[in-house]
Amino acid sequence: MRESFEFLANPSRVIFGTGTIERVAHEVGRLGGERVLVLTTPQQADQGETVGNLLGDANAGMFANATMHTPMSVTEEALRTVDSLNVDCLLAIGGGSTTGLSKAIALRTDLPQVVVPTTYAGSEMTTILGETQDGRKKTIRDPKVLPETVIYDVDLTLGLPGALSVTSGINAMAHAVEALYAQNGNPVLSMFAEEGVRQLARSLPIISQSPKDRTARRDALYGAWLCALCLGTSGVALHHKLCHVLGGSFDLPHAETHTIVLPHAVAYNAPAVPDAMNALKRALNTDQPAGTLYDLAEKLKAPTALSDLGLEESAVDSVVHILFETEFWNPRSLDQQEIRSLVSNARLGIRPV
Ligand code: NAD
Repeated sequence: MRESFEFLANPSRVIFGTGTIERVAHEVGRLGGERVLVLTTPQQADQGETVGNLLGDANAGMFANATMHTPMSVTEEALRTVDSLNVDCLLAIGGGSTTGLSKAIALRTDLPQVVVPTTYAGSEMTTILGETQDGRKKTIRDPKVLPETVIYDVDLTLGLPGALSVTSGINAMAHAVEALYAQNGNPVLSMFAEEGVRQLARSLPIISQSPKDRTARRDALYGAWLCALCLGTSGVALHHKLCHVLGGSFDLPHAETHTIVLPHAVAYNAPAVPDAMNALKRALNTDQPAGTLYDLAEKLKAPTALSDLGLEESAVDSVVHILFETEFWNPRSLDQQEIRSLVSNARLGIRPV
């Protein structure tokens, strides 16, 4: 255990269970919401409408155009809707993209947020907001964007397609992995992290076979929440920084990119973080955390090569160049040549050990 540490808990109200969406009107009411804007994506517009109906008279309307990586243009469009409908509360139902839009609006309006996550991405528990403009993704941390209330409803995750469940679950694991060796980590977060990885590693193989298995879905959502708590208060390192470059500057899809990069980031950092590796060995029941994370993705038919997401060989140098443009902390010093090999191996889908 670390000799000394600081512990920070973000203030948010969490409702976890099955059928918990029925409490949405009550939760919005607790925040004083009388004119609620439902946020979601075009793909989840039906779900958005169903939840909007649960709000009764407080349902002011829906904005169903949330987009991955939170482009500023979409936020501006949503802000115009907020104004024109005289909205006093936000209700986001969806994955990290929808939560991101809600946070972007909250940053600029201070409106209270109820977030109903339907993936395992974990944005709902963090003060982080990443926004994209002119091909660059900029990330801020601001307590203003932390959702006041989060409703986890296992039922709402049953429809998450098996493939997206796997990549989203591994994305969640990545939050826990980096919390295990974060510069500002602490033993409480390490407990959350180890348990979060354990729950997801056990449940994802079941979900990929039977996406409607409620017990596995409950365990995965619980694990994802623990991982989200980790991301909420700990700093990130190489893994998240690299995924941020790949998503923000090369438009690669979020969860798939995390899934591919994670084993490589773990292998790179392993020599510098023996305690974190021991926790991962216990959680994954293996002697080789990096290889086992790769095998998990491969076995569950998730992508294992960035080339499958469209990253060209000619882009590798730019990825490394952008990554090194801004300084960031990492438990192991960053060697440009080795990072280039890491990106190249991740592009080719080579299994790390
Ligand atoms: P997403 O929100 O883009 O969702 C992917 C697709 O799946 C969307 O079309 C969505 O509508 C659909 N979907 C979501 N849940 C579904 C369900 N239960 N059933 C059917 N379809 C469903 O993907 P994501 O991986 O959840 O989020 C990615 C975004 O979140 C990225 O922009 C990333 O940067 C951001 N993120 C931010 C943080 C943070 O702390 N700020 C943390 C994690 C992720």
